[in-house]
Amino acid sequence: MINSRQYKLNHKLLLRIVELTILTLIISLTIRPLLFDIHHYFIWVSGFDLIIVSSLYFIIRTQKLAKWEISIALVTAIFLLLPILAISGGVNSQIAYFLPLIPVMSALLGGRIESLLIGFLLVIIVLTFTYYSEHVIDLSDGIYTYEKSYSRGFWLVITIIFSMFFGRFFSQKHTELTDQLKDENLHDHLTGLLNRRGLELHFGKALESVSETSPLTLMLIDVDYFKQINDEHGHDVGDACLVEVASTLKKSLRENDIIARFGGEEFIIVLPNTPKIEATVIAENIRQTISEGVYSSLKLPLTITLGLTETSQENDLILKVIKRADKALYRGKDKGRNRLEWSK
Ligand code: GH3
Ligand code: MG
Ligand code: MG
Repeated sequence: MINSRQYKLNHKLLLRIVELTILTLIISLTIRPLLFDIHHYFIWVSGFDLIIVSSLYFIIRTQKLAKWEISIALVTAIFLLLPILAISGGVNSQIAYFLPLIPVMSALLGGRIESLLIGFLLVIIVLTFTYYSEHVIDLSDGIYTYEKSYSRGFWLVITIIFSMFFGRFFSQKHTELTDQLKDENLHDHLTGLLNRRGLELHFGKALESVSETSPLTLMLIDVDYFKQINDEHGHDVGDACLVEVASTLKKSLRENDIIARFGGEEFIIVLPNTPKIEATVIAENIRQTISEGVYSSLKLPLTITLGLTETSQENDLILKVIKRADKALYRGKDKGRNRLEWSK
C-alpha cells in the first residue's frame, strides 16, 4: 500500500534538492566568470546542462513519472554537478569527494535499484572525466598532472562501488526494520494474533471477494466468565489462559481463515468462502474443542460463546458485519453461554 503522506514528503524533499542544486549552478555560472578567466566552452556546456536539468525538474514537479522521480531527481543533481566538476578540476575537484555519498543517499531516498542505477551512472561519469582529464586540466589551468587524475579517478570508482554496496546493505536493513514495525503494528503482543488494525486490513480484503456464490462467515467469540478467572487466580493466570485459547482457536482453522484478538477476551474469526452450513460445523467443532481443554498451569476449564453472521453482499461494511455478530453473541450469553448463535 502506498503511504501517501510519506510520498508527499519525499516529493517535497526531492524538489528542494533539485532547486538547491539548480541554484548552485546558477551562482557558479554567474560568479565564477567574474572571478576567473573561464573557458567559453564551460558557459555553453553549463547552459545546455541547465536546459536538460530544467526539463527533468519539470517532470518531477508535474509528477509525470512519479514511480521514477527519485532516480530522475538524483540524475538531475548529478547533471548539475558536471559543469561544476569540469571547471574545478574534474576528478581532482573537492566536489568529487561528495560523489560516493550519492549512492548511499539514493538508497535512503529510493532503494536498492536507485542506488545501483545512480552508482553505475557515477562510475561512467568518473571514468569519462578520468579519460578526458586532459581537457579538464585545460579548463583548470593545468594545475593537475595526468598521474594524479588517473589515481584519483581509480580511487573514486572504488569508493563509489563501495558506497553502492553500503547503500544496498542500508536499504536491506531499512526494509527489514520497516517490515518488522509494520508486523508489530498489526499484531497483538500477548497472543501473537492479528490486532484490530490487522483484522481491518485482512477482513477488508476478504470482503472484496464476497459474492452470492462465495459467502463469508464471521464469528465473534467471547470467553465465558473470564473476569472470575482474573479475580480468583490473578491476571497472570488470565493472560496464560488467553494465550492458550488463542493458540487452540488458531489450530482449528484452515489456511485462508483469518483470526484476530478483537478486545480483552474477545476474538474474531473470518471464514472466507464459507456458507452457513459449513461454518456451523466449524464453529461447533471450535466450541467443543475449547470446552474439552484445560488452560494455564492450573489446568482451568473454560468455555466460549460464539456469535455468527454470514454475508454474501460484496463490499459489506466491516463494522456492520461485526455488529450483527455481536448481537448474536449477546443472545448466546443470555441463553446460558457455551453455545453458538446465528444473527437474524
Ligand atoms: P461473560 O461470560 O459475560 O463474557 O463474562 P466475563 O466475565 O468474561 O465478561 P466481562 O466482559 O465482564 O469481562 C471480561 C474480562 O476480561 C474483564 C477483564 O478483567 C478481562 N480481560 C480483558 N483483557 C484481559 C487481558 O489482556 N488479560 C487478562 N488477564 N484479562 C483480561
Ligand atoms: Mg467480553
Ligand atoms: Mg467474557
